[in-house]
Order: sequence, then structure tokens, then C-alpha cells
Amino acid sequence: MRVAIAGAGLAGLSCAKYLTDAGHTPIVLESRDVLGGLVAAWKDSDGDWYETGLHAFFGAYPNMLQLLKELGIEDRLQWKQHTLIFNQPDKPGTLSRFDVPDIPSPFNVIASILRNKDMLTWEQKIRFAIGLLPAVVRGQKYVEDMDKYSFLEWLKRQGVDERVTSDVFIAACKALTFINPDEVSATILLTALNRFLQERYGSKIAFLDGSPTERLCSPIVDYITERGGEVRLNAPLKEILLNADGTVKAYLIRGLNGAEDEIFTADVYVSAMSVDPLKIMLPNSWKQIEFFKKLEGLEGVPVINLHLWFDRKLTEIDHLLFSRSPLLSVYADMSNTCREYANPNRSMLELVLAPAKDWIAKSDEEIVAATIAELEKLFPDHFGGDNPATLLKSHVVKTPRSVYKATPGRQQYRPAQVTPIANFYLAGSYTMQRYLGSMEGAVLSGKLTAQAISEALPVANSSNLQTLTRPPATNAATA
Ligand SMILES: Cc1cc2nc3c(=O)[nH]c(=O)nc-3n(C[C@H](O)[C@H](O)[C@H](O)COP(=O)(O)OP(=O)(O)OC[C@H]3O[C@@H](n4cnc5c(N)ncnc54)[C@H](O)[C@@H]3O)c2cc1C
Repeated sequence: MRVAIAGAGLAGLSCAKYLTDAGHTPIVLESRDVLGGLVAAWKDSDGDWYETGLHAFFGAYPNMLQLLKELGIEDRLQWKQHTLIFNQPDKPGTLSRFDVPDIPSPFNVIASILRNKDMLTWEQKIRFAIGLLPAVVRGQKYVEDMDKYSFLEWLKRQGVDERVTSDVFIAACKALTFINPDEVSATILLTALNRFLQERYGSKIAFLDGSPTERLCSPIVDYITERGGEVRLNAPLKEILLNADGTVKAYLIRGLNGAEDEIFTADVYVSAMSVDPLKIMLPNSWKQIEFFKKLEGLEGVPVINLHLWFDRKLTEIDHLLFSRSPLLSVYADMSNTCREYANPNRSMLELVLAPAKDWIAKSDEEIVAATIAELEKLFPDHFGGDNPATLLKSHVVKTPRSVYKATPGRQQYRPAQVTPIANFYLAGSYTMQRYLGSMEGAVLSGKLTAQAISEALPVANSSNLQTLTRPPATNAATA
């Protein structure tokens, strides 16, 4: 079967990969001239990479890890020490670590929390542990039910001290969703915590050894094209053309640089676009259908990714850091963490600015200046003194609508991969799968879409169908 997939982010590429395994012929149509969507990266005129987002991979990403294994590129992940590292705003320049010992879960995570003396008192730790118990004991159903509360509301209901929020969870919420605990659904944090508590290496972090476009997306494209599929850049979907019965007749691809529009036909059609462009693209007759109406409840959240190159080394830390700054979320010195960006003499900080709603319209200069001011708290030895580090160059990448904004009540709006239209499917990290708006969620969603298509339209003698990991239940939300 020819399957047309709009969007070459991780969801579209994963969908195409698993469709080729199942014997189908995917053709991925990407609007931009770069692969990867939210993991896209570019090389500047000096040959330095800059990215849409600082991306951390977790041990609790089974579908991503399996994909890398199937592509034979799992060695491209550079695993870091099993620890979470936080800046301490009241003690500029100092760090607090949650070192996770190599013992079975959940004792490893519990030990890391108990051993941390900087951030929480014993009473706070015990109260938080008791508050978390229902999520651990009652499992995913309880976690899904908590979508009606913000994470802050949930913590208060569990009697957890407010300092736990300010110390640990503002940083975690910003890192996972680019919004604060008073805005984020409790389901998001509880899902992540559950994974970290249940899997021995779940909270272990890795960085890719180079740019995601080249080191992650390109191998997926090679895999697809070597097996008869196709990935076309500069091929924006302009309109979904319908048959009289409301099914998809064709994708209309916008002709660029004066070229004519192209009518692209296939047996099955997938949208692997993010939710915001999909909503704009929906045919009028579909907008009346409840399934598609619900998409109005989802919207991408703004986020900004900065890259700052300095004249000296600011730190030797080879890890992700939680800044605990009101302006910034996580950051890393990529000259330490990423093989291809390595530099023994100069730092390249990659930093996520979130929440970004008040910053997204500001100039790059304003954003860089505000970030440098924050660096005085993170690296007081190198900023603010007599001999401050010199900024050599910077790149700011703004994404006005990134992953869906995971506020309370969003779970009910996240669609399944199978739609009411017989020949039209959805993939994307916003669709219903349990890994939220993440790379793992994108890869899993694409896999679920490929699986649904293969089940609806099996190809005889397809040798690799068994590589699709079946979800334990029919509801994709539990996959
Ligand atoms: C700053 C930042 C940091 C992040 N950090 C992490 C992290 O540390 N760990 C993690 O797991 N996740 C992280 N994420 C989230 C992760 O990147 C996303 O969840 C994931 O990449 C989404 O993939 P997707 O394929 O669902 O969507 P997208 O990547 O949005 O892909 C959609 C694709 O559709 C294309 N498209 C849109 N319109 C059209 C059209 N008309 N025609 C054709 N194509 C179209 C787009 O160009 C894009 O390529 C981060 C994201 C950002 C922005």
C-alpha cells in the first residue's frame, strides 16, 4: 500500500519506518527543507550546529531505544552518570545532586532522594513519599484521573509542602512541558515519576552524539528509502482533498518557487503534522465530527532554545542541569555532553527558556541579554566579576507553538491514531499514547499508527510485522 505521510518529525519518520517493516510503501511529505520537526537542527556558516531544542533521552524511552537498536545506531547515545543535578539559586554557582545508586527500582530513586541533604527536609521527603503512594499503588488509572488537577493543586491535596514545589518541581515541570506547576496537569508529572520509580534506569539521561537531524533522522530516512519508501522535503501539504463520501481523495502539495501545486494520491493518508497546522488544514465537513472538534482543545506551547558560545570553559560538567531559574529551564554545556560539539577550551551552552509566552515576541538581543544576566547566578566565577567570559556568538531558535500545552483536562482532547475517516490516520506526540509530548511519545505514536494501518490493511508475507510492539490493551492510551 502507498501511504502518504504529511510531516517528517519523529512521529512521521517512525510511522514510515514501521510501515516499511510491515511491507507498505510510505512517502513522507515535509513542508520544510529540514528533517525532524521539533528536533530539527541547522549548521551555521562556521560549521557549528544549532537546534530547535536541547534534547535529553531517558532510560524510560523503550520505543526510542528499540528504534535506535533496529537502526543499528544505539551507540550514538552518550549515557551520562545516573544522577539529576539542580542549581541552587540561593547559593549561586553551587549544585545539588540526586545520585541514583545502581540498585533495583524503586529503591534506587528513593535512596537518591533520601541521600540529598540540600533540597528537602526529612519531613518534606516523608510527606512527599506518602503523597505519591496512590500514584504508585493505584497505577495509570489513578494517574489519568488526576488530569483534572494542576500539579500544584495535586501536591496541595496530598498535603505536600510548598517548598517541594519550588525546590524540585518547578524545574521538573518546566523541563517536561515548558510551563509551571500551577499550569501543568498532574497527570504529566505523575506519569514521569511513575516511570522513574518503576524502571531501574528510567531516569538515566543520554545525549545524542551530534545533531538530531543528521544522527537520528537521516538514518531513519536511509532505512525507509533503502526499502522503497520516499521522504520529500519542501513538500508542504496545502489541502486535504475529499471524495464525495468524506474520505481522502488526495493530498494537494503546494508548489514552491512558482511551481504548480501537485495532487498526490495514495491508498492511505497520515497526518504527522503537529496539532496546530492540522487544525488549520481540516476540511470543513470534518470539522463537524466530534473526533476532530476535540482538537480545538489542544494548542502548542511557546518555547525558546538558546545557544551561547563563550571564549572559555565555564564548567566541566558533562550532564543536563536543572537551572531552577525563573527565566530558564534545563541547560547543558554541549562542548562536554555531545561528541560532535566537543571543545576542550570553549563552552557552548544550550539553554531552554521557559515559560516563553512573555519572551517569544522579544528580539534575540533582549533574550540573550536576559539569559546572560541569569548566568551570573549559574556561573558567578565567570560573569559579573572583573574578567567576565566573552560571548563569541549566539543563536536563538523560537518555537511559538511546540508540543501541546499540557494543562489540566487535556487528556480527553488527545485523539487516537485511528480517526473516523476510513483512509486517514494521525501520528504525533500530541496523539494519545502514554509518553506525553516527547520524542518517545512521537516515536510510539508513529509506531501505533503504522500498526493500526497494518492491521486494517495487512500485506501478505510481510516478514517484519512482528517487530511492532503490541500495546497491552486495545486502548492506545495504555500503550
Ligand atoms: C525546546 C524543546 C526541547 C525539547 N526537549 C525534549 C527532551 O529533552 N526530550 C524529549 O523527549 N522531548 C523533548 N522535546 C519534545 C520533542 O521534540 C517533541 O515531542 C517531538 O519531537 C515531536 O515530534 P512530532 O513528530 O510529534 O511533531 P513535530 O516534530 O512537530 O513534527 C511535525 C512535522 O510536520 C511538519 N509539517 C507541519 N505542517 C506541515 C504541512 N503543511 N505539510 C507537511 N509537513 C508539515 C513540520 O515541519 C514538522 O516537521 C523538546 C521540544 C522542544 C521544542
